[in-house]
Amino acid sequence: MNLQKELSLSHGVAVFTDYPARLHTAYGTGGNCDYFIKVSSIKGLNDVVESCKEHGVPYKFLANGTNVLLADKGYRGALISTLGLNWIKYESDKIRAGSGALLKKVICLALSYDLYGGEYLIGIPASVGGALCMNAGAYGKTVSDIIESVTILKQGALYKLSKNECEFGYRKSIFLTNEYPIVEALFSFDKSVGYDDRFGDRIDLCTKLRNQTQPQGKSCGSVFKNPAGDYAGRIIESCGLKGYGIGNVSVSQKHANFIIAKNGASSKEIYALMQYIKNRVYQLTGITLEREVQLLGEFE
Ligand SMILES: Cc1cc2nc3c(=O)[nH]c(=O)nc-3n(C[C@H](O)[C@H](O)[C@H](O)COP(=O)(O)OP(=O)(O)OC[C@H]3O[C@@H](n4cnc5c(N)ncnc54)[C@H](O)[C@@H]3O)c2cc1C
Repeated sequence: MNLQKELSLSHGVAVFTDYPARLHTAYGTGGNCDYFIKVSSIKGLNDVVESCKEHGVPYKFLANGTNVLLADKGYRGALISTLGLNWIKYESDKIRAGSGALLKKVICLALSYDLYGGEYLIGIPASVGGALCMNAGAYGKTVSDIIESVTILKQGALYKLSKNECEFGYRKSIFLTNEYPIVEALFSFDKSVGYDDRFGDRIDLCTKLRNQTQPQGKSCGSVFKNPAGDYAGRIIESCGLKGYGIGNVSVSQKHANFIIAKNGASSKEIYALMQYIKNRVYQLTGITLEREVQLLGEFE
């Protein structure tokens, strides 16, 4: 039995073949994947992972697609969309959320229960799973600051990992290997951070800063991680690369760590610009920039 037939019997699973997965990425570029599989139950997720293993089909998890670049040749294997695992529940001063829930919805629910601290992250267009995998952050805060535990699926069983076991670092975690899917997370908030006069200011400031500093258009946010003690955007700008373009993609005039893709852009052009920036910055400053955006498929 092939993968699609086998999974058609599974509850909470929808399988699409030769599918334009670019529709689920922020850049909107790249080719088809062999299988695009939407899961909306834990059992379904387990069935999909186990079937992929059994059939020797490589797989990766895809959530809101705001930090991935899909190759023009697509992805040979299965992209497993976890956005259907999107429950969000309030549980005595904590929030439990499925990996497919949007981070901003989790933070808004928390705020409605007077649970503060997550508001700094409200503008990040992440799902819970994507945010945990990348340890997404903004304005000095990261998602790991408001996490108590993360539940993953491993060989048919659920395992609860403590925050320490997730090995969160700057834009990294153990989940980056894509070996085991994140199923859900328990968010806990510092109760000493209550509502204060500056709460409105914090939200306004984060939104204003984002609007002021980040460009419109198709992007994946920051392309490179900030080197210790500096900002990738400042370094790229200092190398005279603001506005530099290849084909239909260019370095944003507003924020040099953003690559903006125009209509008709290809992943090859985006990747070529990433490589150009990296090489040029190294030539001029000796600094090696590390890519934050995750690649799906093969790039030359
Ligand atoms: C306009 C814009 C602004 C941005 N601003 C910020 C910012 O301020 N701060 C910041 O940190 N980032 C920012 N980003 C980048 C991006 O939003 C984050 O990296 C975010 O965490 C990615 O979440 P996602 O749901 O889109 O994940 P995806 O892009 O779908 O996936 C990212 C990674 O997570 C993995 N993953 C997703 N779900 C699961 C799961 N269930 N189990 C295991 N692995 C999983 C994927 O395999 C992939 O490796 C921005 C992006 C854009 C487009």
